[in-house]
Amino acid sequence: AQSIRESLFILNEYARDFFVKTLHEHPEGRAVGMSYFRERGFRDDIIKKFQLGYSPEQRDAFSSGALKAGYQREYLLKSGLAVGEESMLPLTDRFRGRVIFPVHTLSGKVVAFGGRILKKAENTGKYINSPESEIYSKSNELYGIYFAKNAIVKQDRCYLVEGYTDVISMHQAGIENVVASSGTALTHGQIRLIRRFSNNITVLYDGDTAGIKAALRGIDLLLEEGMNVKVVLLPDGEDPDSFARKQNAESFSRYINEHEVDFIRFKTQLLLKEAANDPIKRAGLITDLVQSISVIHNNITRSVYIHDCAALMNVDEKILIREVNKIRLKNI
Ligand code: ATP
Ligand code: MN
Ligand code: MN
Ligand code: MN
Repeated sequence: AQSIRESLFILNEYARDFFVKTLHEHPEGRAVGMSYFRERGFRDDIIKKFQLGYSPEQRDAFSSGALKAGYQREYLLKSGLAVGEESMLPLTDRFRGRVIFPVHTLSGKVVAFGGRILKKAENTGKYINSPESEIYSKSNELYGIYFAKNAIVKQDRCYLVEGYTDVISMHQAGIENVVASSGTALTHGQIRLIRRFSNNITVLYDGDTAGIKAALRGIDLLLEEGMNVKVVLLPDGEDPDSFARKQNAESFSRYINEHEVDFIRFKTQLLLKEAANDPIKRAGLITDLVQSISVIHNNITRSVYIHDCAALMNVDEKILIREVNKIRLKNI
């Protein structure tokens, strides 16, 4: 007999095919979904590669077809593809009138979906995602890892971005070693996934306050996991998707190479702007940097960072060493 997990993967595959077929063949899919992707400048080969799709507006377009095809109600609910309370009531599709981004595991199986609305709407999130299920644990998946893994090994570096469209546009620009945390805080499980392929990571978050905050939050976790972390801050208001579309592959790569900074420098540059000549704020920044450095396990890496930090902040290295050790002792 099939396990529940196997059945859910088979259902997801069926759903993926339904969304893809709807995008390419259904009049609504072509008129609404395909035009949306075209307007965003997504190429056909990229739309195919990422198995992008479209879910019709009709309340049960997907569920009714799936039931007819023999998929059980129980599984439609378990997968989160449909929602419904009482067993007698008809099902409602989770994804309606949205473009669909399937989420693949490392081996290319579909574990979940993300769906984006096409126009602005007040009563619903811009994106909705599959709920956690027997096959989907959000904190252990990374969008794009299946398409990125070979390139990550080849380049010995992984770019980390925020969103689905960032991954896709970077691929389209020829940069394939890229995965997305999908707007949530990075987890240990996700970092371990990346570390199977490379220890070098460059965080490329949106150039807005939310992006900067998320980048800062992710960094300590990455350091703790022994990753070498660099950060690229994009121009204000840009994300990798919008930026990639204004550049060609070459100029985008050049921007990354020229603006890639070590995490210490990133934090320092960023916070020094705010702290300026205010000694209390500067002290706060040093405490912050010391905190980040203290989570690094490798002794040599840690001492290199302490040295850099002392130089950048113009403080005595010995004092920093003492502070870092104090925190490390406390955390044993
Ligand atoms: P787009 O370019 O299509 O507007 P984006 O990827 O730039 O999308 P952001 O607002 O920067 O969107 O969010 C980054 C990521 O966070 C998204 O790709 C998505 O995975 C996730 N996200 C954004 N908004 C929501 C939401 N309302 N609910 C759940 N996840 C969301
Ligand atoms: Mn953003
Ligand atoms: Mn964005
Ligand atoms: Mn965007």
